[in-house]
Amino acid sequence: MQVLVINSGSSSIKYQLLNPVSATVMASGLVSRIGEELPDDTVTIEHHSDGKQFDHTGTIADHAEGLRAVFGLFERSGHDLTGAHLSAVGHRVVHGGEVFYEPTLITDEVVAAIDALSMLAPLHNPANVTGIRSAREMLPDVPQVAVFDTAFFHGLPDAAKTYAIDAEIAAAHGVRRYGFHGTSHEYVSGRVSQLLGGDPATHNQIVLHLGNGASASAIRGGRAIDTSMGLTPLEGLVMGTRSGDIDPGIAMHLARTAGLNVDGIDELLNRNSGIKGMSGVNDFRALFAKIDAGDRAARLAYDVYIHRLRHYIGAYMVDLGRVDAITFTAGVGENSAPVRIDALAGLQRFGIEVDQTANNAKSQEARFISTPDSAVKVLVVPTDEELAIARAATALVR
Ligand code: ADP
Repeated sequence: MQVLVINSGSSSIKYQLLNPVSATVMASGLVSRIGEELPDDTVTIEHHSDGKQFDHTGTIADHAEGLRAVFGLFERSGHDLTGAHLSAVGHRVVHGGEVFYEPTLITDEVVAAIDALSMLAPLHNPANVTGIRSAREMLPDVPQVAVFDTAFFHGLPDAAKTYAIDAEIAAAHGVRRYGFHGTSHEYVSGRVSQLLGGDPATHNQIVLHLGNGASASAIRGGRAIDTSMGLTPLEGLVMGTRSGDIDPGIAMHLARTAGLNVDGIDELLNRNSGIKGMSGVNDFRALFAKIDAGDRAARLAYDVYIHRLRHYIGAYMVDLGRVDAITFTAGVGENSAPVRIDALAGLQRFGIEVDQTANNAKSQEARFISTPDSAVKVLVVPTDEELAIARAATALVR
């Protein structure tokens, strides 16, 4: 049994061919720089299969051409993607709006509805739709399933999902908190519940998904009761290139005084803010190198990041009342020991104590990093959105 998982971005396609039961990855790859005019020797697809790498070079005009080339690479590396060998294709879709809140079998109507939600996610949904259309053309006989980043947060309590603005305007324009990274928060909290043991319905958790994009969630008995991202993925934590929470008045102020229009403000807050806006780099490895070299802007960027993160941890501890586990995941959360220590420093009186040795140990495995006495367990759990999507798609197709 194998499932192809496709994650289409505006100029990229990430994909994985995997067995949803054993979690074995047969092949994976990344198509990048779609739509750019490039020299013939530029590597635009890196395809990994059974320990070997197969590259594709040269311009890739659009997503359809990208997927055709990917299928060629699958053939070259000895994997047959025709109907009988593939049980489903799972597509990551960023915004499900009020319409989609569970994995959904893709039909023409579903594609049109996802496309219509582009209003809410102009940077993401159009790319998802392009990927879905191409994959359906190429694999017309394989069932295709959309898995939504917003789905896990569909049932947020009204008080957590409602913005304090004019209610009629909010309702007319779909303005509420949707939340994102839901597939990751659901998968990671599920793994944590397994590791904690006992009845998952009694587990109160905080999950910190700290990648280039970053979000926090509060989860009670497997259901999200709050999350830091909102109408769009811009709200909440400081991220690689996004500001996270700011006074909305800043947008009006910059429109009036800096002459920025809507697109300029969008670009500023989504692409040129966050760690990158404050320090010039968005990757934490580069940020730490700058801090080590004495760069004060980099140090401040880090301090702002940690300050915001601790605010959310504190807020969710109060929301939940009792916390059983705090878990770090995604690129920064899984790899950066200093971020984990600083996020939870000085919280012994709240029952939170990180074990320095466990925290510093390098590992790709899910693991506890709290001291034996820590009432709140602290964990690092690698996220696996592809596996979660493949499993969701398989469950639906069956
Ligand atoms: P996304 O899926 O949002 O693109 P990831 O979860 O892959 O992001 O995280 C990418 C980020 O993780 C990088 O930008 C970098 O800041 C951070 N990162 C990756 N590896 C390391 C590492 N070894 N040490 C510190 N940070 C890391």
